[in-house]
Amino acid sequence: MPTFLRTQEFDQLLAAFSSAALTSATATKNSTNTRCTSKKSGKQVNRNMKSAAARNGTKAIKRGARILTEKPFAFVLQSKYRKERCDNCLKACKVLKCANCQYVYYCSRECQMQSWSVHKIECPFLKRIYPRIVPDAARMLCKLIILLDKGGDLVRGYYTDTCSRRFRDLMSHYGEIKNDVRRLEHLESLYAVLQDMMGESVIVPNLTELTSIYGRLITNGFSILDPEMNSIATAIYLGVSVTDHSCKPNAVATFEGTTLHIHAIEDIECLDWSKIFISYIDLLNTPAQRRAELQENYYFLCICTKCTDVQETQEMLAAVCANKNCRELVDINLNNCMRCGAGVSPKQRNVYNEALAMTKTHLENMKDVAYLDVCKLCLAKQKGVLHPFNVWHLKTLDAAFEAAIDVSKWTEALEFGIELVPGFRKYYGDWHPLLGMLYLKIGKIQLYKSELKEAINNLREAQKILQITHGRDHSLLREQLQPMLAQALAENAA
Ligand SMILES: [Zn+2]
Ligand SMILES: [Zn+2]
Ligand SMILES: [Zn+2]
Ligand SMILES: [Zn+2]
Repeated sequence: MPTFLRTQEFDQLLAAFSSAALTSATATKNSTNTRCTSKKSGKQVNRNMKSAAARNGTKAIKRGARILTEKPFAFVLQSKYRKERCDNCLKACKVLKCANCQYVYYCSRECQMQSWSVHKIECPFLKRIYPRIVPDAARMLCKLIILLDKGGDLVRGYYTDTCSRRFRDLMSHYGEIKNDVRRLEHLESLYAVLQDMMGESVIVPNLTELTSIYGRLITNGFSILDPEMNSIATAIYLGVSVTDHSCKPNAVATFEGTTLHIHAIEDIECLDWSKIFISYIDLLNTPAQRRAELQENYYFLCICTKCTDVQETQEMLAAVCANKNCRELVDINLNNCMRCGAGVSPKQRNVYNEALAMTKTHLENMKDVAYLDVCKLCLAKQKGVLHPFNVWHLKTLDAAFEAAIDVSKWTEALEFGIELVPGFRKYYGDWHPLLGMLYLKIGKIQLYKSELKEAINNLREAQKILQITHGRDHSLLREQLQPMLAQALAENAA
């Protein structure tokens, strides 16, 4: 494997560049959007937000408007992509490793140079424990320590022209973490890695300080997604962290490289960040699951309209009605269908419970990689038992769709994908990146199979959604969707 420049050369090259690089990379004013995990921290911020809202109050926001763009304060590429993606721009391409630590890889000298101001401090730490793989959270903590030591606490992330947040403005949830055994164990293991990496380095903070950095990281960290919606990196965005969560969001975070954009997915009265919500979690889960996840990871109880709606749970866990002509979503715990009155027999309840248990077990086992045969086995067991809108059925279909694509079974993939659309629309909403991506994948397969009219329809549907969630200028539209649509139109006209 060829290597890059020696680190000494870089020091010379970057004598002037390096100190400026940090600020320019992290303090870009007014940019970005993303998925935000944090809760607002304190009254000061709220006051700022109110005045900002007042200033921007007159300007209505249309669906699809980009309301924030931000570069990360800190980010770390997931270690499993280390040798296939650039550590700086995250691009998947041919990468070359740092000659000194042999741990991080870059696509170009330019990228190596851009990350040098931080990496030159991190580099000897990584080298020290090479060839050990550093847990992503440990590397992120290390980076945060370095950044804060270099004056990073002065860096601001702007969420309006005048309102901004610094790292210390993020909530640390110190109290909650101190009482959370699971988190304390995690922190302890990370601290051990940091000690191995950083040794007696003077910049290692004491445990109290480290706990508050860790708290800010875990409750504000974003997963950076690639265009296919796979998580490839962890990041902290300062400005965006002002955004609260809702299971019925009116904005969405998408990424272009490391840059985060937030787009409005509904018309919003004005840029008042106390009324702008993104979802921190997967919405294809029951209220109980969502609330547990939010409580465990972000330390709050979701009281959004969807979490407080009892019907949502019933629908998400619905069984089919015993009456074949009735399409009602049946609550298996009741004695009758609410629409046609058909009874729910104990036998039906048993079959339902078996199908659900089997599905849960298999999906859990296939968390990392789904097998088409196993998915099909579950789908067969669910047929005539779980309602098509049951989330466990939808999760299975989704896994089957991806598994079929993986093994190039296009006809089957297409069936699963098309079946998935109504459920995705119901639970993710009309303007969700995952719904847009589903249409795009369906259209792509249809184009491949020369089902041109269908391909055109689905790619247009994808375009309608993705230009709202990602913006017309996003590479996903420019480089993937539009060329495919153009090809489908040209072939159809021929
Ligand atoms: Zn790069
Ligand atoms: Zn290095
Ligand atoms: Zn909720
Ligand atoms: Zn019925």
